[in-house]
Amino acid sequence: MAATRSISIFGATGSVGTSTLDLIEREPDAFRVLALTANSDPVALAELARKHGAQVAVVADETHYAALRDALAGTGIEAAAGEQALVDAARLGADWTMAAIVGCAGLAPTLAAIEGGKTVALANKESLVSAGQLMMDAVARSGATLLPVDSEHNAIFQCLAGSELADVRRIILTASGGPFRMLSINEMGSVTPAQAVKHPNWSMGAKISIDSATMMNKGLELIEAGHLFPIGLEKIEILVHPQSVIHSLVEYRDCSTLAQLGAPDMRIPIAHALAWPRRMASPCAPLDLATIGRLDFEAPDEARFPALRLARQAGEAGGALPAVLNAANEVAVAAFLAGEIGFLDIAAIVERCLSRYRGSAPATIAEVMDADASARHEARRLTESVRTG
Ligand code: NAD
Ligand code: MG
Repeated sequence: MAATRSISIFGATGSVGTSTLDLIEREPDAFRVLALTANSDPVALAELARKHGAQVAVVADETHYAALRDALAGTGIEAAAGEQALVDAARLGADWTMAAIVGCAGLAPTLAAIEGGKTVALANKESLVSAGQLMMDAVARSGATLLPVDSEHNAIFQCLAGSELADVRRIILTASGGPFRMLSINEMGSVTPAQAVKHPNWSMGAKISIDSATMMNKGLELIEAGHLFPIGLEKIEILVHPQSVIHSLVEYRDCSTLAQLGAPDMRIPIAHALAWPRRMASPCAPLDLATIGRLDFEAPDEARFPALRLARQAGEAGGALPAVLNAANEVAVAAFLAGEIGFLDIAAIVERCLSRYRGSAPATIAEVMDADASARHEARRLTESVRTG
């Protein structure tokens, strides 16, 4: 890669954030770190900021400001806190921004980075699910380059390789099926958070790991794909592929199908987004197909994984429903992780929030956030009634 590029990472302490820093560290001359952010771990954030020579470090949760400031004392690195500080950091104008905050909390800084018109690598799928149209409009307005980091969408982006969407017959989004692929509904009723966060192939943050177990992750990814690659949700299919070696496929109108393969290591799609349109060396294991031996595929089961049906319905209905789906799911997943509700309650709560929602289609980000807040309120009420049962 040529000139040094400035980089900001939102969600720097997380799974995707630290994988991004791992790659950057290997090419110190190629990158200069501008802003690093986290929610609430000022010590870990300060350590990363020192190590990578960041200009600014931001904690979203203001109660951690003093700890962050103290941890950075004498380093010359600016400490900041709060939601506005996150947006301000996104406006510093980094050449390349990684959006890796988990949840709709990432929406405001991701949009601010997009409005800067540079390159935004998007891992934070929840913000695109909630505000997809508005976000894609902002990309068109600002001329920003939005590079998908979610492994499936990164795979689709690579398989498209600049082709016309009009020539695409079908996009096939692969899914591992998660840790409960073989379980009956009955068995799923009693799984614990510890069992659910143990993904068979990927090491990820807690929230996305639970989403993989319910398969809501694939539902969110369906909606995400619908915005990034607008060919109509009916042309986007989900295929269970337990080995997570093929990260997705694109079928063209001539019935030629392209797939992208690689080890299940997020540093591969992140490296793709970091070096795009070039390639960079990565420390990842190359694919050894002879050792893998076989690749399996099966149709997804919406009866055992109702989140797939709910997400498709919300995506097809559009309007505020994807934001409601996402917000209700965020609340229900947090309640499950806290041991307050059962695994099957997650999709049940999302379904009830969707069926009760009466708002109109949001025309502004403020209206998206209103739909998000009202769905969170309803989902909290439902989790409370499950808990006190
Ligand atoms: P994680 O939980 O490991 O990290 C999340 C990061 O966001 C942390 O730095 C945390 O401090 C920060 N954060 C959390 N809540 C916040 C808030 N309210 N305000 C500001 N910052 C906050 O999550 P992750 O697994 O790295 O996932 C990040 C995003 O990337 C998610 O949207 C996820 O769906 C997506 N993604 C992750 C993977 C993966 O392999 N981990 C793969 C594909 C997509
Ligand atoms: Mg994915």
